Amino acid sequence: AAKEKGRNQFCEFTPPMEQEAQNRRLLLRDLQQGLDGQEFELHYQPIVEIASGRIVKAEALIRWNQPLRGVVSPGEFIALAEESGLIVPLGDWVFQQAAQQVAQWRTMLAPAFELSVNVSPVQLHASEQSVQDWIARLDALQLPGSALVVEITERVLLEAGKEADAKLQALQKANIQLALDDFGTGYSSLSYLKRFDIDYIKIDRSFVSHLTRGSDDTVLCQAIIVMAHQLGIHVVAEGVETQEQHEILHEAGCDYGQGYWYCRPVPASEFTERLRESLAGQKNV
Ligand code: C2E
Ligand code: MG
Ligand code: MG
Ligand code: MG
Repeated sequence: AAKEKGRNQFCEFTPPMEQEAQNRRLLLRDLQQGLDGQEFELHYQPIVEIASGRIVKAEALIRWNQPLRGVVSPGEFIALAEESGLIVPLGDWVFQQAAQQVAQWRTMLAPAFELSVNVSPVQLHASEQSVQDWIARLDALQLPGSALVVEITERVLLEAGKEADAKLQALQKANIQLALDDFGTGYSSLSYLKRFDIDYIKIDRSFVSHLTRGSDDTVLCQAIIVMAHQLGIHVVAEGVETQEQHEILHEAGCDYGQGYWYCRPVPASEFTERLRESLAGQKNV
């Protein structure tokens, strides 16, 4: 404390780096409290079958309702949760919550419904217990593994040591599906398609958002789709925001679309309504 005082004599403001460190400490404290205080919630974004316009899947996306900060988006706290290891209990909560929700939608509305969850590399590296707990949860819910899709990025595969490999294999052994998220933004995506049995590729939004007729990105998307299909992999386009993008993807034979043009991520109750309408054919998105 004496040292602190001494320093403050020379420096009356908090230097930016200390400010930054302080902000991170506060955010981490709040994250920890949020986890204890059940401030997290999952929102669900429809994944639409492009050919029919029907909602057939969804992606679970975490939201943090912090009493003072308001709604904090994952972009603002996932990295810190990863660095601090909090992502492990947080990610376990996400998986458990998602499993329960998809079980409910399957029983209530759509027997073949699938739900995606995002899994960070840290979860696959750090935790010994998580994957076993997830699989036990599926058993308890009498839910087949195929109801869940684990979305990983190339980062997982890039950093995949033996432990991560073993965990991915355990997921696949339980019939949980794998999606390669943000496809095309990493370093060497193609070799991973060979190494792992990937079920879905999600074409990154940065390609989809520049889809206009005759554009380079249209050629790239077309090529990704053809290649994926040859390998028996289904394709989801992320970040579809316009009708033109949707049409180009349709013509290119893309299987599924996700994006604001169909629907934003919404709370569970609202998603249930959307799904109900889509199934009844009242309203194609
Ligand atoms: P992601 O997995 O690639 O998820 C897609 C992101 O794109 C979501 O942002 C979604 O809201 C947004 N998005 C969807 N459609 C559109 C569109 O048409 N236009 C635009 N501009 N954006 C669109 P969100 O929810 O903020 O999540 C950001 C990232 O945070 C996710 O990217 C994922 O990497 C991570 N994340 C979210 N939830 C979780 C979680 O439960 N666990 C972990 N480990 N990561 C998560
Ligand atoms: Mg994702
Ligand atoms: Mg993505
Ligand atoms: Mg497979």
